Amino acid sequence: MRPFTYQRATDPDAAMAALAISDGNTAPTEATVQALAGGTTLIDLMKLDVMRPQALVDINPLAGAWAEINLEGGNLRLGALARMSDVAAHPEVQRNYPVIAQSLQLAASPQLRNMATLGGNVLQRTRCSYFRDVSYTACNKRNPGSGCAAMDGVNRMHAVLGTSDQCIATYPGDFAQALIALDAIIEISGKSGTRSMPFAQLHKRPGSTPHVETALAPGELISAFTINGRWPRSVYLKARDRQSYEFALSSAAVALDVQDGIVQDARVALGGVATVPWRAREAEALLKGLKFDDGLAGRVAEAAFAGAQPREHNAFKIDLGKRVVARALHRAATMEI
Ligand SMILES: Cc1cc2nc3c(=O)[nH]c(=O)nc-3n(C[C@H](O)[C@H](O)[C@H](O)COP(=O)(O)OP(=O)(O)OC[C@H]3O[C@@H](n4cnc5c(N)ncnc54)[C@H](O)[C@@H]3O)c2cc1C
Ligand code: SF4
Repeated sequence: MRPFTYQRATDPDAAMAALAISDGNTAPTEATVQALAGGTTLIDLMKLDVMRPQALVDINPLAGAWAEINLEGGNLRLGALARMSDVAAHPEVQRNYPVIAQSLQLAASPQLRNMATLGGNVLQRTRCSYFRDVSYTACNKRNPGSGCAAMDGVNRMHAVLGTSDQCIATYPGDFAQALIALDAIIEISGKSGTRSMPFAQLHKRPGSTPHVETALAPGELISAFTINGRWPRSVYLKARDRQSYEFALSSAAVALDVQDGIVQDARVALGGVATVPWRAREAEALLKGLKFDDGLAGRVAEAAFAGAQPREHNAFKIDLGKRVVARALHRAATMEI
């Protein structure tokens, strides 16, 4: 592991000042100064020599307001330093936003969830094995312009949606699908103040710059996530190679508003199959104004994968993904609330 300096941020201004050293146009994920939250991804990647920050700014002392779970006023506000396990176990979150609680509960392991924060979770890096192994030089995300070893390599875990000819890496997290399905807003703190942005705008598709993963500017921190309204009829379903401690092969975050048997609003987001948290907007629109049945769920699932582009080893994700979407919709439509 390379040497680095460590500093504890005593308040948000001190954190911002420490993080805002000039990195020019460097993507925040590659910045030489990194915020340290739970450290469950960052320290891993430093040990692998994939991330090479020269300085870490520990933001855990900002917990307090930045770790609150607040359901006042009919909305949900989650501080970015809230631990995954605390949010997953919160009875009001479980009752009013099951898709949030389930997406966190089905992620990682109990030890990791106790340590990991929501902000760090949404900013975790891809699990593409060529990205995580520096003995492979060809990785446009880690080494821009070097090529992509996964294109003709082992790409079973890779994405079928949102890919480019530069990168096919899957966005690995679970919680982000719940956030994008519920139209979450993120609150971002930087040296020039606080701004808000739809969560859907945070992650960037790889295009010709796979190393630029988010819309955050260097030195900016996510301070909170907010969701308007309640979504009690919502579900997160995850298919993986084993039942715990494993990333998704395919997942679906689904939320429905059903009145008198008719779907008034529907949200469908996909995980494990796309380069970014993926909202299937055209597919979900098929549900609106109709009475739910499993035939309709099947048509929504077909539409969700209409643009999928498989590689040699990952075509199975398309059929699996359709089954996951249809099953998640069935569960949400038939759940007792
Ligand atoms: C074996 C294993 C299995 C896992 N399985 C899953 C899984 O199934 N599903 C899943 O979703 N995740 C999984 N994970 C990932 C895990 O959930 C993440 O490692 C964790 O959520 C990251 O949170 P953290 O607080 O530890 O982040 P850190 O490691 O502290 O930070 C990660 C990155 O985010 C930045 N950062 C952190 N907080 C902020 C903030 N507030 N603002 C701006 N930047 C910030 C850091 O600078 C760093 O670049 C797994 C991890 C491991 C090691
Ligand atoms: S898929 Fe993306 S992250 Fe993986 S090797 Fe190719 S460029 Fe790198």
